[in-house]
Amino acid sequence: MSAALIDGKAFAATLRAKVAGYAATFEQSAGRKAGLAVVLVGDDPASQVYVRSKGKATTECGMAGFEHKLPDDTAEDVLLVLIARLNADPAVDGILVQLPLPPHINEQKVIAAIDPDKDVDGFNVVNVGRLATGLHGFVPCTPLGCLMLLKDRLGDLSGLDVVVIGRSNIVGKPMAQLLLKESCTVTIAHSRTKDLPEVVRRADIVVAAVGRPEMVKGSWLKPGATVIDVGINRLPPVEGENRGRLVGDVDFASAAEVAGAITPVPGGVGPMTIAVLLRNTLVAAHRNARVALAKDAL
Ligand code: NDP
Repeated sequence: MSAALIDGKAFAATLRAKVAGYAATFEQSAGRKAGLAVVLVGDDPASQVYVRSKGKATTECGMAGFEHKLPDDTAEDVLLVLIARLNADPAVDGILVQLPLPPHINEQKVIAAIDPDKDVDGFNVVNVGRLATGLHGFVPCTPLGCLMLLKDRLGDLSGLDVVVIGRSNIVGKPMAQLLLKESCTVTIAHSRTKDLPEVVRRADIVVAAVGRPEMVKGSWLKPGATVIDVGINRLPPVEGENRGRLVGDVDFASAAEVAGAITPVPGGVGPMTIAVLLRNTLVAAHRNARVALAKDAL
């Protein structure tokens, strides 16, 4: 392996410690803790794990966590009433509805019901529009975490060629917008892209958010490229394993021979998502309580 390892776990720990520091000063100024409400509908095991770890991380950094668990057959109207209540609750600065929602609930309608100034996931179209037009708003946690890792590693990103593989609303599209804002030349690749290896070979930075285990090979990369692997895929267990190994969308072994720097899976982008969620919640708290926060504090 010749690539440097981008340690998202360490970066996320530092960010969380910073958030905890600012959360304590926020509490002194505002006379209350910053608060994050997390809403879970149904009993999807992966979602339950995510919600539990978000709640734990929230309290660990000195903020208030409000967990709302609703049964799988919750009517859409009931969920919308809860969101209206959270929108109006001054103790709640951020609202996160864990996705996916059961099929009888219209996800877009629910996301649209969240007050954009409490939409710490950045999925509401108002925040999507703010990002696209360069206005202040909430940016989805995973791509913002990727950007933080890139800027920490490379400093000024202006003029660099980037290929983002994947065009989801949660990762690919906001990632591309963020990098455009940094004056990168951005290509968005997807399942219909012709000759993906050739497209990837042009990139100084590759962000892979595909959901296909170890798809991006080292032979596709420009030597020295910086590789951000967003993918989280569990391989089928091999003999002697209870659970299969977690791998990214990048074939780490071959990519690490060619890249200049690369995020591992696990321990790369994954830990950044919750850290940025906490950061976004604290930013929301300062705005909602009209407590000043230095522009580049977090
Ligand atoms: P989606 O399934 O919503 O999007 C996947 C994207 O990959 C689509 O745009 C799709 O193209 C594209 N794609 C699929 N196959 C190919 C292919 N063969 N070649 C090129 N592009 C392809 O996934 P998400 O964006 O939600 O997530 C992507 C990955 O990131 C997943 O592994 C997920 O688990 C992980 N993830 C990790 C997070 C973290 O915290 N680290 C957070 C969120 C996601 P098309 O649009 O044409 O179908």
